[in-house]
Amino acid sequence: MLEKTVGVRESMETPGSQTSLHRANLERVVRAVRMAGSLTQAEIARATGLSAATVSNIVRELKDGGTVEVTPTSAGGRRARSVSLSGDAGIVIGVDFGHTHLRVAVGNLAHQVLAEESEPLDVDASAAEGFDRAEQLVNRLIEATGIGRDKVIGVGLGVPGPIDVSSGTLGSTSILPGWGGINPAEELSARLGVPVHVDNDANLGALGELVWGSGRGVKDLAYIKVASGVGAGLVIDGRVYRGPGGTAGEIGHITLDESGPVCRCGNRGCLETFTAARYVLPLLQPSHGPDLTMERVVQLAREGDPGCRRVIADVGRHIGSGIANLCNLLNPSRVVLGGDLAEAGELVLAPIRDSVGRYAIPSAARQLSLVQGALGARAEVLGALALVLSEMGDSTLLSGTEGAFPAAGPASVPAFT
Ligand SMILES: [Zn+2]
Repeated sequence: MLEKTVGVRESMETPGSQTSLHRANLERVVRAVRMAGSLTQAEIARATGLSAATVSNIVRELKDGGTVEVTPTSAGGRRARSVSLSGDAGIVIGVDFGHTHLRVAVGNLAHQVLAEESEPLDVDASAAEGFDRAEQLVNRLIEATGIGRDKVIGVGLGVPGPIDVSSGTLGSTSILPGWGGINPAEELSARLGVPVHVDNDANLGALGELVWGSGRGVKDLAYIKVASGVGAGLVIDGRVYRGPGGTAGEIGHITLDESGPVCRCGNRGCLETFTAARYVLPLLQPSHGPDLTMERVVQLAREGDPGCRRVIADVGRHIGSGIANLCNLLNPSRVVLGGDLAEAGELVLAPIRDSVGRYAIPSAARQLSLVQGALGARAEVLGALALVLSEMGDSTLLSGTEGAFPAAGPASVPAFT
């Protein structure tokens, strides 16, 4: 289950009293810094709507309490003070199951990645093997950082398919045949003994690019991941939009041709059947050999191979018409392209732009910037770190020894004691 955000802690204070107002202001400042990594005091004032004097007082209080660190910096040529959460206040862990790999990262609350590793894994094979390997890699990386396990605040877990919000299981077992009936967050949480927050790879890619990559500073964006499947992570007004069932963003199943190829979802002619690797690679295998991968197709296209260039341009045109639909519905200010295909750069971005220009209504596409993801294959695992940062709640940092983890939902277990 997607966990509920841990909100303001229930307290004995009267709402609206000086104390509760002060507490709310502390939480606003911590929340702004938590998601941005570091901000100057002027940026905190802008982000929270608090006055410069209030921000200054709150930052001093948080610094004295050890919650934040303040370092000198310069902003627009002027001296400023950069505020970030204390690096040693806790660590967060990201675990990303891709179709062919497992990637784990350990980060601190100041947005620094302390350790990261990836290894090949056929995620279709067996869920049990996947979790065994994830558990081992997480334990190894925590050890490598030299930081105690009691500092682990939580784990963000990425899976390559939509999560059913009501059951916490993978929504479509046709994507991962070995994972039917498994609740990935509960499984990993039971093994590691820490709270686990789960989301699909496209939503995590969106979060990763939003916090660390090409989406920084943008409040409305779509992250389009083209790999074994095609999915979109949607950020609306600064938050990932998942929909009541957790399946928002399934852009790969927009119908492009109702008499087209049969898709794994059971429909015909979905966008995915014109763009995903499993449908695109067979077009090139007769001419380019059976061992082709999407990575190789992109490399050959960059070297000038005409067949690979043609296929990538066609894929771009189809993705562009999907993005045009998305623009008409949601009017995002930025679309970030991720997955292997994004490495083709302008070879795929130019045809996408072409289609968006052709099929989107002009007012929906006018302010759109279409860019390549900045994080490459790391987008999802960094997004998993960001998921923990966004779900952890500020009470954790402000309540000292008071129980750090209020019950957050069935996927959560008590913290170390
Ligand atoms: Zn489909």
